[in-house]
Parts: sequence; C-alpha cells; structure tokens
Amino acid sequence: WKHAPGHFRTMLENSRWQGEKDFLIYEDERISYEQHYRLAATLANRLVEEYGVVKGDRVAIAMRNYPEWVVSFSAVLAAGAIAVPLNAWWTAQELAYGVSDSGAKVLIADGERAERLAGTGVPLIVTRGTPQEGTRAFDEVLGEVRADVTLPSVELSPEDPATIFYTSGTTGLPKGALGSHRNLGQAPMTVAYSLIRAVVMAGKDPSGTTGERRVTLLTVPLFHVTGCFAVMTGTMFTGGALALMYKWDPLLALQLIEREKITGMTGVPTNAWQLLSHPDVDKYDLSSLTGISYGGAPAPPKLMERITNELPGRAPSNGYGMTETTALAINNSGADYARKPDSIGLPSAVVDVRISDPSGAPLPVGEVGELCLRGPNVIMGYWNKPSATAETFVDGWLHTGDLARVDEEGFVYIVDRAKDMVIRGGENVYCAEVEAALFEHPSVDDAAVIGVPHDELGEEVGAVIRLSAPATPEELTAFLKERIAGFKVPAHFWFRDAELPRNPGGKILKTRLRQEVLAL
Ligand code: ATP
Ligand code: MG
Repeated sequence: WKHAPGHFRTMLENSRWQGEKDFLIYEDERISYEQHYRLAATLANRLVEEYGVVKGDRVAIAMRNYPEWVVSFSAVLAAGAIAVPLNAWWTAQELAYGVSDSGAKVLIADGERAERLAGTGVPLIVTRGTPQEGTRAFDEVLGEVRADVTLPSVELSPEDPATIFYTSGTTGLPKGALGSHRNLGQAPMTVAYSLIRAVVMAGKDPSGTTGERRVTLLTVPLFHVTGCFAVMTGTMFTGGALALMYKWDPLLALQLIEREKITGMTGVPTNAWQLLSHPDVDKYDLSSLTGISYGGAPAPPKLMERITNELPGRAPSNGYGMTETTALAINNSGADYARKPDSIGLPSAVVDVRISDPSGAPLPVGEVGELCLRGPNVIMGYWNKPSATAETFVDGWLHTGDLARVDEEGFVYIVDRAKDMVIRGGENVYCAEVEAALFEHPSVDDAAVIGVPHDELGEEVGAVIRLSAPATPEELTAFLKERIAGFKVPAHFWFRDAELPRNPGGKILKTRLRQEVLAL
C-alpha cells in the first residue's frame, strides 16, 4: 500500500485490507470496506477537481445516519479539507449558523436537510432526496466509481486541522471544536485500548480480540463525536461492521440485534435503559450481544445493575468523553465497573487527569473540583472563538466544566456539571447524585433534578419525573431520605407522562425543562 500522509488517509488506505467484508449496514444496504474506499476516494477527487476544494477548506455534512455520511466524512478528510458535521436536528436557522460560522465551501446533505439549507447560497450535494435547482445529486457528482481510484495528492501533517464538531449546546450555544489529524488519529487507539481492557477485565485472553467478527449497532448520531470517533472510526480501525439506524428506536434495535447478529451496542445511557425497559425485550434472540457501551451523559449506577441482572453476560461499559476530547477519554468496564458502578473509571493510557480548585491548582484525592484533562486527544481549540478557547484551554489543560473527584485507586467520579449544581442555602446539591438515587426507585423511568428559585435559600431542589408505575411525592421523599441527606431531597416534584426533552447526545435539556415547569 502506498503510504497516505495524514492519519485519517492512512487509516482509510489500511481499511482496504478488510476487502469485501461488510463495513456499513443500513436497512438492506451493505457497503464493504473496499466499496467504501472507492466511493470515498472518488468523491474526494470530485471535491478537488469540480469544487476546487483545497487543504484547509471546510466541507459541511448535514445528514441522518446514512452510509453516505461516512463516505462523505472519509472523502472530505482524504481531500485534505476540514469535515464539519452539522447537527441533523437543527432548524434552517441553526444550520445557517453552522454554515456561516464554519465558512463551509461545499455542503453535502440528505434531502430533508437540503431543504433547510436551500437559502445558504453554498454549493449543495444532495443524497436521499430530489435535488432542487442549483444543487447536484450525490450519485451524479460521484459519476463512475473505478476500482483503480487513488486518493488525491495532498501534503498533511499531524497538526493540520481535520474536523470541526459542534458541542451539544447543553450549557449554551454550540461551539465548533477544531480537531487535528493527530487528535482523530489517536481516537481509535483509545477505543481499542478500552476494548482490550474490557476483555482482560472479563478474564479472557485479549490476543485475537480483533479476529472475532464484531458488528456494532450505533444508536447515536454520527454528527457527535461518540458516534463518529468512539464508534465509526474505531470500527474502521479494527475492521468490524457498523449497523446504522436512521433514528433511535428500541424496538428496531431489538430487531436489528437479532437479524444482524449484533455483538455490541454503543450509544447514550438512555438507549440502553429503553432497550431493557421495552416490553418485548424477551421476545428477541439477543444471544449474539456481548457488550453494551454507553457514555456522553450521566449513567445512573442502577443501569449497570439492570444490565447485569436483566441481560446477564452482556458486559456494560461506561465511557466519559467530550467533543473537546475527541470522544472517549475515561472508561469503566468489567469487574471495575461492578465494584464501582458510580465511577466513570480510569483514564485512557494517553490521558492525564487533574482535579483543580477555582484558581486552577490541583486538589488532593477525594476532594471535589473541576475535572481537567490533558493529552493528544484534546482538541486545538474552538473555531472562531478566541476568548472561549483562552478560558477553556489553560496551560495545556482542558477545563471540562464538570465537577469530579478521584479515589485512591485513580478512579474518576463525575459529581455534576458545574452549571447544573444547585446551591441550596449555601450547601451544594449535585443533581446527578439525586437523580441516581431516584433511579433506584422501581417506579422511576426517568428523572431530572433542577434548581428552583427560592427567596430565602437562593435555590431549592426540584425533580421532574416520568413514572413507569404509580408513586406519590411522599413515597419518593421517604425513599430518598433513606439514601441521601435531607437537604438534597427535592422539595418539589413534577410528574410528566411525556418523555423528558433530550438533545441527540442524550442529555436532558435542563434549561428548557426549568422554563417549562416554572411556568406551570
Ligand atoms: P456544551 O458544551 O455545548 O454545553 P455538552 O458539554 O453537552 O454541550 P458534549 O461535548 O457532547 O457537549 O458533552 C460533554 C459532556 O457530557 C461532558 O462535559 C459531561 O458533562 C457529559 N458526559 C459525557 N460522558 C459522561 C459520562 N460517562 N458520565 C457523565 N457525564 C458525561
Ligand atoms: Mg461542554
């Protein structure tokens, strides 16, 4: 194989070793590793020749989880340009922000997103929909896909920018996270490292791990780093198959596990919780499934317990990561996770962890402070946001905005998001702790704890709950009092029939929820 400079180009070239093995599975479509390479290389050449894309140009991708998302991402990086995945849930206005903020030169979109992008005036390539005036169909742009296609020639160094992923926008406006080729090059190693560790933890021999047929079900969008780096590039690197879903649906997930003999499922904690709670979970053959991984949002310890009891033999794994850490940074699995179900685990081999006080000084074991991370996975900074970059990346350390502590063995515990914490009469109440206690109650299907303004205390604790069986506020109060200190027990309970509002990263939209319940 000809060496292709640039970490992703090398990974793409190496992926051809997998030949005709399935890489992408979508409904009844199958794309092999060789086909994916040819499609991506062909599109990369078209972007260069027909759209004048050069190194450093931004090309935005706005799609649901179609195979073309992966082909487009590979093509943009192979052309030496910067891939800008846009959130498929965004409205026309939000998409327009992503396009202008990134300064995208070309857009690649599915039909629904293409309609929302129509007014941007940027050349648009459309798949899974009818191209409108001034746009071109994906297949037409591709033209003939030849077996002897090669990647366009471009000089790349590991420090060149490769991606702009937007953060989930949980705490404010989404920020463009500028990642380098080095950042994405290390991501599959981090995933492989945690995979191998999980195998060792399960008491098995890790050699030959990658020789087993692995089919991963992706239950989260590709436009966030969990989907793209923790799963998609991780799969490409290790030669597995990736089954895509247009949209998360627990029943479809059960059907796919049976039909495609899925070996691992990766997404956010809610996916795993809803799969376990599905009334038909016992009707499907899930015997192929050996692991259930999740991350990106707090996982109640009860989830680990439920997987262990309700789907024995399916190793649960909890991963912590951020857009700014190119996905996975810290991971808990196997016997460690069983022993410490409230921990996010140990940092990846390449990640340094520090717990800082507000001045940035390191805190000792056991004390709660801001989680700070350092390593080759930490991005270059925010695109177009020098002041946010200067605030968040200080002396080589990424300030995560998450409150955490570390135990004597080095295990990390996320206590809360700094912005979520409720300060009740001067006492810190960590929402994540109260939520975890609520999840212990058998009638609680979902829960979000929020701060409610209070004249005397400043803030009081409130809980919004979705029940799976009847329960009263008195019962829940008594239940919580046995588990957490009285001042942490919510003074207000709101019950909802509807699902709690979440963003595609699985996080509850607390700002919206707070506005909704306070208006009641
Ligand atoms: P924004 O930065 O725009 O407000 P966001 O922080 O939600 O959005 P992401 O980068 O997708 O955007 O999410 C990273 C955050 O997700 C972390 O800072 C942390 O709060 C949370 N998180 C990720 N994994 C876990 C986990 N395993 N347990 C608890 N929290 C997690
Ligand atoms: Mg964030």
